[in-house]
Amino acid sequence: MAAMFEKVALIGVGLIGSSMAHAIKRGKLASHVSGYARRAETLEKARKVGFADSLYDTLEPVVKDADLVVLATPVGTYGELAKDIAPYLKKGAIVSDVGSVKSAVIRDAGPHIPAGVHFVPAHPIAGTEQSGPEAGFAELFDGRWCILTPPAGTDAAAIEKLKSFWQALGSQVDVMDAHHHDLVLAITSHVPHLIAYNIVGTAADLETVTQSEVIKYSAGGFRDFTRIAASDPTMWRDVFLNNREAVLEMLTRFNEDLSALQRAIRWGDGDALFNLFTRTRAIRRSIISAGQDSAAPNFGRIPPKPEKNQ
Ligand code: NAP
Repeated sequence: MAAMFEKVALIGVGLIGSSMAHAIKRGKLASHVSGYARRAETLEKARKVGFADSLYDTLEPVVKDADLVVLATPVGTYGELAKDIAPYLKKGAIVSDVGSVKSAVIRDAGPHIPAGVHFVPAHPIAGTEQSGPEAGFAELFDGRWCILTPPAGTDAAAIEKLKSFWQALGSQVDVMDAHHHDLVLAITSHVPHLIAYNIVGTAADLETVTQSEVIKYSAGGFRDFTRIAASDPTMWRDVFLNNREAVLEMLTRFNEDLSALQRAIRWGDGDALFNLFTRTRAIRRSIISAGQDSAAPNFGRIPPKPEKNQ
C-alpha cells in the first residue's frame, strides 16, 4: 500500500511530535518523517531514539517538499513558527498542529498560511505528564479522540485526508468549531490541571503540615493531583494564556459549585454531598465503559515496594 504522505514535517519532537513519528512509522503512513527542534540537546535525544528520517535545527529543510506539516511545540510559538515556515510551504500541502487550544491557533497561525496551502488545526486528546523526544510512544493515540477544528471554508478533501491520517494513527476523530472545542477542553482538561497545580501549590505552602508529611501520606488522593501537576510548565502556561475566556468562564462555574459544597459541609447537609458524590461516580463509570480509562483499581498501577528502612 502506498504511504498516505510522501513527507511529513514535525515542527517539535517532544512527547506529541515523537509519538506521532513512532505511530507514522508503525503504520507506514509516510515515506519520510522530518523533525525540527530548537535546541541541540533535543535534536541529540531525538537522533538517539531514531524515530525521524531527518532532523534539523532550521525550518527550511524540514518543511521543504512536505505534504503535511504539523506544529507540535507550545501553543504560544505557533504564530511565529507559521510566519517562519510560510515561504517554504509546498502548494497543496496541509498545515496542521496539535495544540491544546484552538481559537488562538487559528488567530495566530491562520493569517500566515499562504493561499493554496490548507490549514486544518487538530488536537489529539492524548498525553502523559512526561515531555521530550524520549517520552513518545506509538500507542499514545490508540483509541483516543482527536478533534479537528477547520476554519469555515477549509478544503473538504484536506479535512478528509487529515481525518484518515489521525484514524491511521489509532485515533477516533471528531470535527468541531474551535470556540466550542476550547469550552469543552476548558472543563475536561484545562481547569482540572489548574486545580491540580493549585492544590499541590497550597500543600507545598502549608505551615502546619510539613512537606515530608505531604509526601509520606500522599496516597489519599493528593498523589493523583501531583501526577497532573507535574505536567510541562511551558505547555500549560501557554494553554492558560491562550484559552483565557473559556477557562475563566468555567472557573466561575467551578467556584459557584465549590461554594455550594462548602455551604453543604458547614450546614451538615449530608444529602447534598451524597447526591453529588453518587452522580460523579456514575461519570467515572461512563468514562470506563466508553473505553477511555481502565476499570482496574488504582488506574491499573502497581504500587512500588516500600523502601527497606522506612
Ligand atoms: P514537549 O514534550 O515539551 O515538546 C515540545 C517541543 O517543542 C520540543 O521539541 C521542544 O524542543 C519544542 N519547543 C519548545 N519551545 C519552543 C520554542 N519556543 N520554539 C520552538 N520549539 C520549541 O511538549 P508536548 O507535550 O509534545 O506538547 C506539544 C504540543 O502538544 C503543545 O502545543 C501542547 O499543547 C500539545 N498537546 C500536549 C499534550 C500533552 O499531554 N502533553 C496533549 C495534547 C496536545 P526544544 O526544547 O529543543 O525547543
